[in-house]
Amino acid sequence: MDSDQFREFGKAMVDYIADYLDNIRNRKVLPSVNPGYLQPTIPQEAPQTGENWKSIMEDIERVIMPGVTHWHSPNFHAYCPTANSYPGIVGEMLSAGIGCVGFSWMSSPACTELEVAMMNWLGKLIGLPEEFLNCSNGSGGGIIQGSASESTFIALLTAKERMVRNIKNVHPQLDEGLIKAKLVAYTSDQANSSVEKAGMLGSMPMRLLPTDQNGCLRKETLEEAISNDKNAGLIPCYVVATLGTTGTCAFDNLEELGPVCRREKLWLHIDAAYAGSAFVCPEYRYLMRGVEYADSFDFNPHKWMMVNSDCSAMWVRNSRHLVEAFNVDRIYLQHEHEGVAPDYRHWQISLGRRFRALKLWFVLRSYGVEGIQKHIRSQIELAHYFEKLVKDDSRFEFACSSMGLVCFRMKAGDRLTQTLVDKLTQRKNIYVIPCYFQGNYVVRFVVCSRLTEIRDIDYGWREICEVASEILNGYIT
Ligand code: PLP
Repeated sequence: MDSDQFREFGKAMVDYIADYLDNIRNRKVLPSVNPGYLQPTIPQEAPQTGENWKSIMEDIERVIMPGVTHWHSPNFHAYCPTANSYPGIVGEMLSAGIGCVGFSWMSSPACTELEVAMMNWLGKLIGLPEEFLNCSNGSGGGIIQGSASESTFIALLTAKERMVRNIKNVHPQLDEGLIKAKLVAYTSDQANSSVEKAGMLGSMPMRLLPTDQNGCLRKETLEEAISNDKNAGLIPCYVVATLGTTGTCAFDNLEELGPVCRREKLWLHIDAAYAGSAFVCPEYRYLMRGVEYADSFDFNPHKWMMVNSDCSAMWVRNSRHLVEAFNVDRIYLQHEHEGVAPDYRHWQISLGRRFRALKLWFVLRSYGVEGIQKHIRSQIELAHYFEKLVKDDSRFEFACSSMGLVCFRMKAGDRLTQTLVDKLTQRKNIYVIPCYFQGNYVVRFVVCSRLTEIRDIDYGWREICEVASEILNGYIT
């Protein structure tokens, strides 16, 4: 494909994407295909000779769209948001066009320098303490990782390395392998699955501690678990606190947990994957009080801040610990400016890295602080509007709400609430998923798409009411 064909193909694709998003309401939010649907729609082998871009374009509606779950449909209310915006998409395009690999400052200086600058902008935007920022003159700093899962895992590996070094400093004769085998980590039973996975991958048992009735991990529970492990001869090492749990968007109390971690010299990582974007609005920052106790903090602009995936923003208080854990040198990676700017390969798992800061830059400049605040506030307002609809209908029971998420159930009980979710999923007009809250099966309704408006909340509510009526009238069992 030459540049003339690229211009045609690229422009046609921009039009296709704009049309897709403009008309996304006309599509069922969930696809109607079965596993294996795609294979018969394409040849068994790659084509022998190149095809015209127009025939590739034609296959998008035929092959791809029938199997797409439309995450940006205003009727998508499952899981949590995944970001999509035009400046974010254009940023991705430029990143692909430049196609550099920014593993060190030298490998593409703009890639590192824009990332450093954007992580400062972003850290200031959400009110992170100065010591986490690259511009603090201290050892803190930020990096864009691929996912919150990656950040939790990276923080665990770093905590492990720091703990082993600290112990070896005092007891140099101790075997590193034996120390590592005794390390333990803690989080709550409401933490995202990725936290448990980090423990599995990092060979550090992750204790999933019980939470209080609001889904928050409390100080006494953490202290008791630490004490039990110490009595059993184990070494507490790593704690993951969640600001905005996946199930119900509960917030662990950092002012309680932080001092325990500080006293016990445990690495405290904060996973604010979804809710972290809300800290752009000063009125929600009280939920991150105690963040100054953290060793690392992560949230996903690719969830709720309109930056297309992947863009997970991670800050550490002391980047030296990361470098000590991840530094493997080779002559082909060295350059004359080492140590002046971060060489991000020491802060992550992979060597190569994409120019992800571009899309963040484009989004922050296109919307500005006010535009992003408006986005967050309006999505929370839509959730409040939905909450009122639930509370005003005697067939339903409100369970809890936080940020853009509302949980509720049918008063008729768990079984019929489950029937409601199943039927809604079969109808494919809206998409919601369940979770458990205080032992009850509840429906999670999340305002996800940036395109969702009041009329879409009304549409979703009508759909829920219609199915609930059918269930209560005995038409569906
Ligand atoms: N942490 C929390 C609290 C989440 O809600 C999620 C995803 O929903 C994750 C982590 C995982 O995020 P990622 O897909 O970026 O790994």
